[in-house]
Amino acid sequence: MRRNLLSAAIALAFAGLAALPVGAAPGAPKTAALATTQLPRGVQPLHYDIAMTPDAKSASFSAQVAIDLEVMAPTSSITLHAADLKFASATLSARTGPGGGTAQNAQIAVDEAAQTATFRFAKPLARGRYKLALDYSGSIGSQAVGLFSLDYDTPAGKRRALFTQFENSDARRMIPSWDEPAFKASFALRVTVPSGEMAVSNMPVKSSTPLPDGRVSVRFADTPNMSTYLLFFALGDFERATANVDGTELGVVTRRGSLPEAAFALESSQAILREYNDYFGVRYPLPKLDNIAGPGRSQFFGAMENWGAIFTFEYALLLDPAISTQRDKQEVFATAAHEMAHQWFGDLVTMRWWDDLWLNEGFASWMESRMTARLHPEWNTHLETVGARDGAMRRDALATTHPVVQHVATVEQASQAFDEITYQKGEAVIRMLEAYVGEDAWRRGVRSYMREHAYGNTASSDLWRQVERAAAKPVTAIARDFTLQPGVPLIRVMEPVCKGGSMTVALAQGEFSRDQPARKPLSWRVPVIAGIAGGSATARTLVAGGKGSITLPGCGAAVVNAGQSGYYRTLYAPGAFARLAGGFATLAPIDQIGTLADTWALGMAGLQPASNFLDLAQATPASADPQVWARIAGGFDSLHAMYGEDKAGRARLDAYALARLAPVMAQVGWNAQAGEPTSRAILRANLIATLSHLGDQATVNEARRRYAAMASDPAAVPGPLRKTILAVVAEHADAATWDAMRRAARAEKSPMIKDTLYALLASSDDRALAERALALALTDEPGATNGAMMISMVSRNHPELAFDFALANIRAVNERVDATSRSRYVPGLAGNATTPAMAGKVKTYAEAHIAPEARRDAETAIAGINDRIQVRRERLPEIDAWLAQYAK
Ligand SMILES: [Zn+2]
Repeated sequence: MRRNLLSAAIALAFAGLAALPVGAAPGAPKTAALATTQLPRGVQPLHYDIAMTPDAKSASFSAQVAIDLEVMAPTSSITLHAADLKFASATLSARTGPGGGTAQNAQIAVDEAAQTATFRFAKPLARGRYKLALDYSGSIGSQAVGLFSLDYDTPAGKRRALFTQFENSDARRMIPSWDEPAFKASFALRVTVPSGEMAVSNMPVKSSTPLPDGRVSVRFADTPNMSTYLLFFALGDFERATANVDGTELGVVTRRGSLPEAAFALESSQAILREYNDYFGVRYPLPKLDNIAGPGRSQFFGAMENWGAIFTFEYALLLDPAISTQRDKQEVFATAAHEMAHQWFGDLVTMRWWDDLWLNEGFASWMESRMTARLHPEWNTHLETVGARDGAMRRDALATTHPVVQHVATVEQASQAFDEITYQKGEAVIRMLEAYVGEDAWRRGVRSYMREHAYGNTASSDLWRQVERAAAKPVTAIARDFTLQPGVPLIRVMEPVCKGGSMTVALAQGEFSRDQPARKPLSWRVPVIAGIAGGSATARTLVAGGKGSITLPGCGAAVVNAGQSGYYRTLYAPGAFARLAGGFATLAPIDQIGTLADTWALGMAGLQPASNFLDLAQATPASADPQVWARIAGGFDSLHAMYGEDKAGRARLDAYALARLAPVMAQVGWNAQAGEPTSRAILRANLIATLSHLGDQATVNEARRRYAAMASDPAAVPGPLRKTILAVVAEHADAATWDAMRRAARAEKSPMIKDTLYALLASSDDRALAERALALALTDEPGATNGAMMISMVSRNHPELAFDFALANIRAVNERVDATSRSRYVPGLAGNATTPAMAGKVKTYAEAHIAPEARRDAETAIAGINDRIQVRRERLPEIDAWLAQYAK
């Protein structure tokens, strides 16, 4: 699964808002958290034969399932997962042994809180094989959970398409099942559907039989053994295009009329599949692999790796030249690469239980980055790995963090496991370990892991065993330090000693913590790579037992974590930092970005002056890599937000930031130049957004001018800049402009553009317009999946307003958030808040609405607020002093 990044869709249009995004969602019913997800182990499902008839219009379905199962220990009852299903009958027949063929009816007991159904039998069941036949019905939701519908506009009127989303624990909403990753079984799916609509599932259609009533019975080929959460079904007025790669039929499936917009995804998927067939050493095992686009969005996810039938929201799969940006294009590629990596890591080999979710997500995130850098080196995305690591460290430095491998007991906890630690820290740790053992050894380890565990389930230790064997190097101990312990190592760099033409640097390991600075540091074995500014030679060492040292060939400014593959913060002694700042322009771009990230974080934590970040910004030449400037612009934006109501302080900062960014913007320009690097196109969008947040009147005026000219001169708002320009206009809109945008949103027929316009309506910095956006979010106008997104958008500029509004309308808000996201949505609305009162409100809300074991996201939101309050009080004075000195 790829997480829902609001950024994925409209990202750079809103880039830079100080938001350190903290997960957040609406009040879960407390009962959901009680759903213990581990079933008794005495009964094992082998095969599910499902016949289902969905009724899209009435939002319900009826179904029968016949489950072949094995009773391994005598029992008089069978318990499986079921949620919101109504049972009409349950019959069990023995397949083998005495009594073979005779059937007995079961008494049915449903436990809503535990999400289970128990079938009790008058005659106890001996060991052996049985068939359990169930007749039942269920409902079709309007949010992306279980079997759900997405409605959209077409020139011919509204249409409805159906899809499924089962990860982490929602197959039980469509199929009574052993809904845990370790219970692998095969699935045969038959559906009765209207003729003229396309039905898609994991496997190809085996037969399609017209029925006398005009409907069609579609039967899909049996799946191989797999986990329930990977099953998929979709139905709608779709089109499909295909290509053949190494004997696999690759497909994209879209709403009718949108197929050309999926051309890039299909083309990319071909190249990616070829690479993966090679990398994993095990060919993609199913006959086909579709990628199905659905309109709208979820608060939980952007795409899902159902085996053979990836589901992706349109914003991460389709490219519409009228509105799609370079960043969107990269997201489409990265999303496909992520979900396709899961076809092996996750689908073919699956974690035994959610404790090891990171095996799926860390690996797919790492592979997504690796594949993008490999197939599109011109995008320079390897520089983005620093940002991903930084996102993980921000979260990992708070006391509310958790180890990469963590204990998961309930459905809610499993949902909360889809976070920065599982994804980005998992990715960063893999990158570090790969750099430690070498690319070839790592790949050999992955290949034998795939061979050894195909169609099976694993824990982290199974991966380490194979990598260690392939590398012939003790890597397991390091891997355990970073996956079984929480937190971020801090490597202190002492003043280097230059002697005889080489430089020795002593290193000490501590822990980087934002809210527990006095705690005794944990201990890690940390692989360290270092170099000298301006040079290409590096040296390696392993810091263990808290100490280490490294000798570099030559003397100069030491760069620790050269290449940025290490998962740790680097704190230089003052002299070493001064030399590094002096040589900053000579560093490789990735080390410039890494140093900026560490300097920012260490400064905000009070471990060095916060103004060191400004020293580096000052030392950065206008010709630096666009992504270096993007990081600096992001820093300015965060400082701007931090000043809050301190108008004078904010004005000093803005003046400096504008002076620093203006020459860069002048270089980049508003108009794309032929053959320019893609990172410049992204920086353009980024800078315009930042300058707009900083209140740069020239930028706002130019955006308004272009927006006004759009009707008569389409070139004024080129497609790749449309979101950016609209975002500036929306941010600074007056009531008349807001009304005009709303009329445009209403009239828009393209679901992707329509969604963007509703997001923009919620992004105004004007409080009265933000209130109007909130009211609009709870009407039917924006569409069922846009309401929650609009409230989140409002919370970026107006956290308290959005939070209070959600609480006052909690029932209506909950209806618009998928059940999987409920324990994080509302706390997340406080993600940008900066007052103790808001911390208190989140706490009160969590205690009233969220089960104690599912409060981690709420606690993290509170920790984030307290952190921002402290940073404002303690760190801004250093920034002030630096700016005052600079102004002289
Ligand atoms: Zn994933």
